[in-house]
Amino acid sequence: MKNSVNEIAPNLIQTFKSEFKGQLIFSSDADYNDTRQVYNAMINKHPGVFAMCKNADDVIVAVNFGRDNNLLVAIRGGGHNGAGLGLCDDGLVIDLSGIKCVEVDTSNNTVKVGGGNIWNEVDKATHEFGLAIPSGMISTTGVGGLTLGGGIGYLTRKYGLTIDNLLEAEMVLADGTIVTVNTTKNIDLFWAIRGGGGNFGVVTSFTFQAHPVKLLIGGPALWPIERVEEVMAWYDKFIQEAPEDLNGFMTTMVIPESPFPEHLHNKKFCGIVWCYVGDPDKFEEIFKPVLDLNPFFAHVGEMPYPALQTMFDGFFPTGLQWYWRADFFNELGPEVRAQHLKFGSAIPTALSQMHLYPISGAASRVGSEDTPWAYRDAKYAGVYLGVDPDPENVTKITKWCKSYYEALHPYSAGGAYSNFMMEEGQDRVKASYKQNYDRLVEIKSAYDPKNLFRVNQNIIPVKNS
Ligand SMILES: Cc1cc2nc3c(=O)[nH]c(=O)nc-3n(C[C@H](O)[C@H](O)[C@H](O)COP(=O)(O)OP(=O)(O)OC[C@H]3O[C@@H](n4cnc5c(N)ncnc54)[C@H](O)[C@@H]3O)c2cc1C
Repeated sequence: MKNSVNEIAPNLIQTFKSEFKGQLIFSSDADYNDTRQVYNAMINKHPGVFAMCKNADDVIVAVNFGRDNNLLVAIRGGGHNGAGLGLCDDGLVIDLSGIKCVEVDTSNNTVKVGGGNIWNEVDKATHEFGLAIPSGMISTTGVGGLTLGGGIGYLTRKYGLTIDNLLEAEMVLADGTIVTVNTTKNIDLFWAIRGGGGNFGVVTSFTFQAHPVKLLIGGPALWPIERVEEVMAWYDKFIQEAPEDLNGFMTTMVIPESPFPEHLHNKKFCGIVWCYVGDPDKFEEIFKPVLDLNPFFAHVGEMPYPALQTMFDGFFPTGLQWYWRADFFNELGPEVRAQHLKFGSAIPTALSQMHLYPISGAASRVGSEDTPWAYRDAKYAGVYLGVDPDPENVTKITKWCKSYYEALHPYSAGGAYSNFMMEEGQDRVKASYKQNYDRLVEIKSAYDPKNLFRVNQNIIPVKNS
């Protein structure tokens, strides 16, 4: 049983206030309500106190305060988690948005990033040097949560998941010590944080390997939803055999008003969003099969890397209602494709979508036990996104997502990418870490035996299970 912040003796709160250098925000403070908003407006949690950390020392003070007072502790990086796992009710939120830095070392193309940065800030800084770190597809997402869960993005086939490019991290553990983790120091923790989420401590900085990516050729190609089965069958073969310089995630969605011609507005379609980072002279030949499939719209051209990274940000501002469901897939057979036609034709709102991200190329060459990210041999990470600005539509988007998931789960590989999951119970967490779950439990039991860091896709330590 956890304590409430209101039950803590005033002198202990006073000591916390004097030791903590950042801002503490309590429910009586004027900015409390703004501070408790996260990206997904469906999340409505009321933490007891926000510790808005300025640096790693603040994180240590906050971790010690949370642990010593038996509080529920959440860690907030970018606040984008679909399930709202950057917040908790009643307890302490360790907010990292004040811990930011992007330091690019061009001698070895490595980049040190603060635990509270968002990808947009990183992409801008690395782009100045013609470099990029593999990340996700919406640039307002936090570096912390995305990285600790894995990180699927446009560069996955060429350079791997975000965790495959993580060289080192600095983190505050449940006992308040701060450690460096990499391939030679605290090897077990370094393994665990590459996919095991925020279960093992608060990461105050990440060091990544960046890659020479300045310009790319990218953008969407679209077909009518009626062709989704045919396009998906073609895509399944094409993307697995395509050069790793080419990535493309498949989607079903509704055409927004801008930048598309009026006669297409609000029509449902299937599409592939492309990203090519190879020799521009070879692109035409590589891309020819896509054009041979006669997309009714293809807006694919040269652009700076951050332009693709931010291309869809405007459609998905903070404050929409979101419900997610996900699974990994090894095959996209006829039954699977038929369900995509059924649910793609029934997309409930203008912003709701399905995405299928390829897990091939560099990401699939890492062993399934080399990091906790167990589904290296899956072909796709699929996700159904119910999205709408209107809270009145929550039931509609949730129902569509759950039904889509239930129809396709029997054809899935069994588990999901942890960053695409809601709070779905311990069996789902286990299924998603598969053979790596037991090792995660061992490491969790050693470093966080009382499960201080439990507001996440939780790895339950031995004594607690
Ligand atoms: C619009 C949108 C698009 C997305 N696109 C992609 C995509 O293309 N690819 C992809 O892989 N994922 C994608 N995601 C999923 C995303 O990776 C997760 O939502 C992730 O949890 C967000 O991280 P955050 O730091 O913003 O979230 P938060 O809500 O702040 O945190 C999420 C979890 O991570 C933990 N955490 C965060 N930072 C730290 C830290 N520094 N130390 C310890 N624990 C920490 C938190 O405790 C919490 O459990 C997307 C999400 C959204 C909303």
